[in-house]
Amino acid sequence: MYNVNDIRADFPILSREVNGKPLVYLDNGASAQKPQVVLDTIAQAYGAEYANVHRGLHYLSNLATDKYEAVRGTIAKFLGVADERQIVMNTGTTMGINTVAYGWAMPNLEPGDEIILSVMEHHANIVPWHFLRDRQGVVIKWVDVDSTGALDPQAVIDAMGPKTKLIAVTHLSNVLGTVVDVKPIIVAARERGIATLIDGSQAAVHMPVDVDDLGCDFYAITGHKLYGPSGSGAIFMRRERMAEMRPFIGGGDMIREVHKDEITWADPPMMFEAGTPGIVAQIGLGAALDYMMTLGMDSIAAHETRLRDYARQRLDGLNWLQVQGTTPDKAAIFSFTMEGAGHAHDISTILDKKGVAVRAGHHCAGPLMDHLGVTATCRASFGLYNTEKEVDVLIDALELAHDLFA
Ligand code: PLP
Repeated sequence: MYNVNDIRADFPILSREVNGKPLVYLDNGASAQKPQVVLDTIAQAYGAEYANVHRGLHYLSNLATDKYEAVRGTIAKFLGVADERQIVMNTGTTMGINTVAYGWAMPNLEPGDEIILSVMEHHANIVPWHFLRDRQGVVIKWVDVDSTGALDPQAVIDAMGPKTKLIAVTHLSNVLGTVVDVKPIIVAARERGIATLIDGSQAAVHMPVDVDDLGCDFYAITGHKLYGPSGSGAIFMRRERMAEMRPFIGGGDMIREVHKDEITWADPPMMFEAGTPGIVAQIGLGAALDYMMTLGMDSIAAHETRLRDYARQRLDGLNWLQVQGTTPDKAAIFSFTMEGAGHAHDISTILDKKGVAVRAGHHCAGPLMDHLGVTATCRASFGLYNTEKEVDVLIDALELAHDLFA
């Protein structure tokens, strides 16, 4: 039984006030709050179990290494990956996608080769490909979303051609909440020998994900959205693709031997984890994923679906509010603009006065903003601890903003 009040009690920050009002935290799409178990795990890791990993022969170093390495298995379990050596731990999705861009795409793509992106990608899944376009002459092909904000898998499949080498698409839009049916895209790409990178930054937070079943080549997640510490994360990289890669960042931990004129690399995944990692951040991420798995991803998704339906019904009742992305298959993430209101920042400032934290701006999704014909939106993004009562607080605050601007 999913008891949201009990769950809220696990997150100390949710009981604080902001601007004299109870905090209503609806900025989960940017970063989520942390349960006590994550805070305790971090305190324990620094306070009683800390040392560098992989290099010591002393007790604490072995303990920290065991705790850190155990997280690889936790991430693999969370993502439905049987072989945990296909999990590279890192600082988050930006690092994961750059690892693919520099480690896989740069040595394998030739001038004129194509990368297909959807128009609703986050800048983290755009800018690295621009680097490759500018430095290496690869071509970026864009696939639009339809008027409801949905991405038709067939449109992506139709865009694949003889020069296509990579499809890099989001699993769930951070702006519209659209869930992308990535499986048919992956199946079609595999038939054609095209690599697939799925940006799972948002999807893994809101729905069960089974990467082995999806069959993609790369799947990136970021820990701070998964109720874990900032600076934690991982990317799944299929073993066969790892074999085609060269290391991206060089340093300690990713080598087997270093001589004046010769270096041999450690086996993957270590080959892609140079330098001292974010040891404690990653251990904290392990605690966060265990917390989510204990609640159950199906239960979290069911709770958030109820929230989404209630929020949609209430937002639809505001005929002066333009909600972007009306596709039924979406998460509880709502971007909107308000007729007659100033910039999205003005709306968010008024909401903040009521204790409601939302995001305003381009949400690192410039091409989508262009496609929608807006420069910015306000975004309310819900998480596993939000309630219907908080939807009501949001609606009241929006009505106040509308009254002020009308
Ligand atoms: N992709 C999506 C869909 C996101 O929402 C985000 C974060 O907002 C990112 C990528 C980048 O994640 P990070 O900044 O943690 O690397």
